[in-house]
Amino acid sequence: MGNMDNKAELLHNNQVGKEDIYDFKCKKCGKCCYNHTGIILTPYDLFWAAVKLNTSTEDIVSKYCYRYIGDQSKLPIVSVKAGSCPFHTPTGCMLGEMKPTICRMYPLGRGYVDGKIVYFNQPVTCGDRNPAQTVDDWLKLNDVFEENERFSKAWYDLISKITLFVHERNFTPRELEAFQGTLIPILYMCYDTRAYFWSQFLDRKECIERILKEI
Ligand code: SF4
Ligand code: SF4
Repeated sequence: MGNMDNKAELLHNNQVGKEDIYDFKCKKCGKCCYNHTGIILTPYDLFWAAVKLNTSTEDIVSKYCYRYIGDQSKLPIVSVKAGSCPFHTPTGCMLGEMKPTICRMYPLGRGYVDGKIVYFNQPVTCGDRNPAQTVDDWLKLNDVFEENERFSKAWYDLISKITLFVHERNFTPRELEAFQGTLIPILYMCYDTRAYFWSQFLDRKECIERILKEI
């Protein structure tokens, strides 16, 4: 799970529409949880993980994740380490229905093309078949509802803007590091897990968009 090396190719070749048949049935064997190649977490994923474990997003990042700077995007990224997932327990995922979106949808993948959310099929050898199911059925079965997709679109939109901004600016390494350091808390930290996620995220998105205009 989480191997995004060939994501561009899959996005191009394996796109599926919401009404297309998606004949995958998960056997819940858990193999994808202890043999994955890194799971990138969004603020949405961190928020719901923090709600589930009754803690803060900072705690989730420091205990279960690592941070790095994306090669291409130059953005700070939060990820679960490759290999055996720290959220995995003998009885399954400790995040339950609030697990990261990548995990909820797997092996269905999601991307952003020309301002639109698109889904793609990742070939796997696990699971059973369920030819009566559509992509939309699969998403709903796994708690990926409209709110999740709405966040994903806003998130992709924001990170595309930041990436473009960074590539257009001629930052010195020091300036780039300072900019990235500014983004980390705004993007990922200090969400109030007793309040609505969406309004908090929108405030942060607007804040970053203002910063991009002002510097
Ligand atoms: S997605 Fe595949 S590997 Fe993962 S739990 Fe389901 S059947 Fe097992
Ligand atoms: S977060 Fe949960 S579902 Fe995702 S890889 Fe880890 S244990 Fe598996």
